[in-house]
Amino acid sequence: MKMKIAIIGYGPGGVAAATAAKTFDSSVEVLILTTEDLPAHKKPGATMALEHPETRELEIRDWSYETLKKKGIEVKTGVKVVGGDLEKKSLDVISSDGKSSSIEFDRLIIATGGNPAVPEMPGIDLPGVHTIQSMAETSIIGKELDTTDEIVIVGAGFSGLETAERLYKMGKKVHLIIRSRLMRKQLEEAMSKDLLSRIPRGIKLHLGSAPTSVVGTKHVTGIEVGGETIDTSLALFMTGVSPNSSLAEQLGLKVGTLGGITINNMTETSKDGVYAVGDCVEMTDTLTGKPRLMPIGSTAARAGRQAGVAAVGRSKVYEDTSVMLQYDRIFDTDIVCIGHSSTSARDVGLETEIQYLEDPNEAMKVALVTDNEGRLIGGQVLSARMGARVGYEILNRVEAGVTLKERPMLQGRHEQILSLLERTFGPMK
Ligand SMILES: Cc1cc2nc3c(=O)[nH]c(=O)nc-3n(C[C@H](O)[C@H](O)[C@H](O)COP(=O)(O)OP(=O)(O)OC[C@H]3O[C@@H](n4cnc5c(N)ncnc54)[C@H](O)[C@@H]3O)c2cc1C
Repeated sequence: MKMKIAIIGYGPGGVAAATAAKTFDSSVEVLILTTEDLPAHKKPGATMALEHPETRELEIRDWSYETLKKKGIEVKTGVKVVGGDLEKKSLDVISSDGKSSSIEFDRLIIATGGNPAVPEMPGIDLPGVHTIQSMAETSIIGKELDTTDEIVIVGAGFSGLETAERLYKMGKKVHLIIRSRLMRKQLEEAMSKDLLSRIPRGIKLHLGSAPTSVVGTKHVTGIEVGGETIDTSLALFMTGVSPNSSLAEQLGLKVGTLGGITINNMTETSKDGVYAVGDCVEMTDTLTGKPRLMPIGSTAARAGRQAGVAAVGRSKVYEDTSVMLQYDRIFDTDIVCIGHSSTSARDVGLETEIQYLEDPNEAMKVALVTDNEGRLIGGQVLSARMGARVGYEILNRVEAGVTLKERPMLQGRHEQILSLLERTFGPMK
């Protein structure tokens, strides 16, 4: 009998798990279950669908039904897992036409993602108020844009900034509401300020205040913030996600203090043969052992690979699964965040020191985060170009757990970057 692996979730966590399981044991049967009806797409690219609501260009070809089928992975779309019995190894499923069925499995991988974390306030449920979690939602917003010129975006993380840039480039009047500062969790304060200076003047910034209510009766007509009302018929709340762990909890799995499914370094949950990855879990901070939420696609994909390998019975532990790595290019700037910032380090009880480096030739600013033993535990890069290159050098050291004195050797290819790196890390061979 072939081993059956059921995976709940068709995002980066679920697909990476499916692919890894099939790669390491081609004999297993792999079934992905998803509530979504559309083929997998790039979530960062989801903001592109604002401009082209009908586009298929954002689909990830490597993750299409056909490509996965060729690898022996089946995708069942438009189905919601509503419960199940982990002892009997079965899941209860409802399809979009209302039919109930059950699915048997030998191993289960849960990759149910996150729920948008939208602040409670009067009017928040009015039509015209949206989050962006799926391509389907983005396409609806894209159509509403035909009749809207002034848009309010709440939240200044990666996705809020991406969305602001996209809408601004489409010629819309964009208001960006920033409660504290740009990317507060990922960037040092000086880096936030630097990034702020790169935002085009045409985007109206509302700094230091959070919205207090959504105005309107049948549809949003405005957002109240800092004592003023911004007139708008479209408000996008890009205020982060919380783990979508309710199904796991219902199935009897342990959920941690931060609301994510508890897993170990092999992504095993509290039940044998059940694994969980992605935005729905709590990762373990490698330096302190404390739980940490890391709701980003790259982490979901790395953890997915680990889950797939573990589910087919391999004992390999990938050490890089819980290293935070985010890259984006917004406002003509490479933004790279690796490992801990001083804010995320403080959250797990670590004291840090920050060194800054600048290279005006590349419009580059780098922050290096070290712990009290001088180990590099994180870094941030803002740069007109080559940000990924510098980011890689930081990542390399963070993963190795070394001090900057211990690992000064680099292979620089670009003269100016080379000189910046030498000033940062010491002479290179
Ligand atoms: C606009 C935007 C931009 C982003 N940009 C970046 C970026 O630049 N870089 C980056 O690394 N990350 C980015 N992210 C975050 C990234 O998309 C998420 O971290 C990632 O998608 C999480 O992957 P996941 O596999 O955990 O879950 P998801 O991708 O959220 O997928 C969850 C899956 O679970 C399924 N599901 C949930 N419940 C059930 C159920 N009961 N039954 C059946 N199926 C279920 C859903 O249908 C879905 O298929 C962005 C997110 C957004 C919204």
